[in-house]
Amino acid sequence: MTTPHAKPNTNKAQKTVRVLLPLPVGSGYDYIVPPDLSIKIGSFVSVPFGKKEVLGIVWAEGSGEVPASKLKALNRPLDLEPLPEVTRAFVDWVAGYTLTPPGSILKMVLGGQLRPLKDKDKLDFPQPDPALLTGNLTEEQTRAAEALCADVQEAAYAVTLLDGVTGSGKTEVYAQALAQCFRQGRQALLLLPEIAMTAALLGRLEKHFGAPPTLWHSGLTEKQRRLNWHAIKQGKAKFILGARSALFLPYADLGLIVVDEEHEGAYKQEEGVIYHGRDMAVVRAHLGKIPLILASATPSLETHHNVKQGKYKHLILHSRFGAAKMPQIELVDLRAEKMSAQTFISQPLFDALEKALAAKQQAMLFLNRRGYAPLTLCRACGNRLQCPSCTAWLIEHKKTSRLHCHQCGYSTKIPSACPVCNAEDKFAACGPGIERIAEEVAARLPTARAAIMASDTLDSAKGAAELVEQMDNHAIDILIGTQIMAKGYHFPRLTLVGVIDADLGLAGGDPRAAERTFQLLQQVAGRSGRAEDEGTVFLQTTQPDHPVMQALAKGQRDAFMQTEMRERQAFHLPPFARLASLTISGADRTQVVVAAQKIAAAAPQTERMRILGPAPAPYAILRGKTRYRLTIQAARNVNLSAAVAAWLAPLSLPRTLKVQVDIDPYSFL
Ligand code: ADP
Ligand code: ZN
Repeated sequence: MTTPHAKPNTNKAQKTVRVLLPLPVGSGYDYIVPPDLSIKIGSFVSVPFGKKEVLGIVWAEGSGEVPASKLKALNRPLDLEPLPEVTRAFVDWVAGYTLTPPGSILKMVLGGQLRPLKDKDKLDFPQPDPALLTGNLTEEQTRAAEALCADVQEAAYAVTLLDGVTGSGKTEVYAQALAQCFRQGRQALLLLPEIAMTAALLGRLEKHFGAPPTLWHSGLTEKQRRLNWHAIKQGKAKFILGARSALFLPYADLGLIVVDEEHEGAYKQEEGVIYHGRDMAVVRAHLGKIPLILASATPSLETHHNVKQGKYKHLILHSRFGAAKMPQIELVDLRAEKMSAQTFISQPLFDALEKALAAKQQAMLFLNRRGYAPLTLCRACGNRLQCPSCTAWLIEHKKTSRLHCHQCGYSTKIPSACPVCNAEDKFAACGPGIERIAEEVAARLPTARAAIMASDTLDSAKGAAELVEQMDNHAIDILIGTQIMAKGYHFPRLTLVGVIDADLGLAGGDPRAAERTFQLLQQVAGRSGRAEDEGTVFLQTTQPDHPVMQALAKGQRDAFMQTEMRERQAFHLPPFARLASLTISGADRTQVVVAAQKIAAAAPQTERMRILGPAPAPYAILRGKTRYRLTIQAARNVNLSAAVAAWLAPLSLPRTLKVQVDIDPYSFL
């Protein structure tokens, strides 16, 4: 029997654990585990933090960095199953790769703020029934589906590129893999680049499986978030359809990931935790030892390279399903067209529009520019209206009758007099935005029923669904829009696509400009002629000889990719090299410049890394903050995350500055 006066042995008796908090600080803190509590790695616990009590996850044994006598005890475990090991490993991996505090990744795992279930909450989610998926696949589709299903059955890491022209039935094929996953009782995740797209696909998937997928994106209500998160964690939601953030959820038993439109730039998150959804999906599949399907009609060069290297499998669907043929693509040489400064639809495109309308078919006009005009200038003095806090022109929007900055959201009334020379009513709109195209359509084709589709004209996924319905019911003749209408939609009566400015994406210093322009225009073109009626596409360009335009017109995707690949190799660009970028920003310009130079001076001296800059970013000022950029080009075998971390760690920089690290940058602005 022990005496009541025996002193507890603080060294041995007090078990400590490291608890990770969903906050952008450190990599967790040690806490004492009260002897009466049963705690596992992964347990959800409540801990004292400062004056508050916060939720955290038991991440590891105590680090022992702080003596136990100085530690606080954790309060209590929550009534939740521990966070799965694969989820924890994923958090650590992404944190290390993106140079982000693991707590910031954990926050995504918890879906933001963790919301405990309420007593009345029910998690009886309708289950997808794989037996309902009939699927009368073509021979080629069947072969692809069988290969994918075999991978799902194998339940091991495997990445497959499902490569097929728009309308070839990629969705139908990966649906078979989803069904196989459900037959095995496991969860499947389908990732889409944009939420606006979900509406189009949702009904189709629900029909296939007799139950709607469980959604995960930023537009959910509080309650939906809470229910869906818990259902996913408990394994009660089997089919999850989500935006990139869905990748981080704590799946009970994830058996398959599908990344649709894998080439999409929208998979890259550019704020907060900077990561590429597709690339992190590969990591998640690897850690979870599960198959991953990357679907696209225009695969990224990165994925293409991985196929060539034998890292990914390649399944090809060569032709459109059924009677649908690939559309005819015509180039309209804008240099040869005599158009007034107020006209943006060339005669050949206009004639085709009239013809399509007469034949009771639908048309789409594409211009990747919101608003009425991208630039407003004073005809008296030449002054261009610019955002007061950004290096960006103000963009006139008819919808609001105001000028808007697309960078910071600033908006102002259109002044009647020029703020520089005071001339009255001398403003001229330069160039077109989609609203101006709509105006031209209204003037030249007054009986046509036209509608605009852009991110600022649709307030919600519901708005998109309504437009889609109007297209389906043929209540719209001409749909005029930006890239948000380029993807996923299937409008059987749409036979004509006109691209107002095909050159738009080619300008600027982005190494992926040509690839992206090709992908986007190919995608837009793919909206045309998806049923029996043959489709036509008009690309208005001032560079008809550009390799991108030629490849599109001749349907030579693979040749274009090969040329592009050689250029990337010659210039040591991805996928043959690695890039990272550092953006230094702050309100004090001098401080920014000095810090950027200091960072550059401390750069590691190695032949395998080359530092470009510092130089002012293309958006040299955003929201009043000066921005400088450094780009790091490194050999493929350099661990760039580790190199940048080691480079920046010893530097002390003013706290008023922000240094944003972007590993594998896709934006160079
Ligand atoms: P993708 O995803 O490659 O663009 P989809 O899967 O959307 O192609 O297919 C295009 C259209 O063809 C859709 O309307 C789809 O329902 C139809 N389709 C494709 N394959 C089949 C099939 N085997 N049986 C019936 N319809 C199919
Ligand atoms: Zn601005």
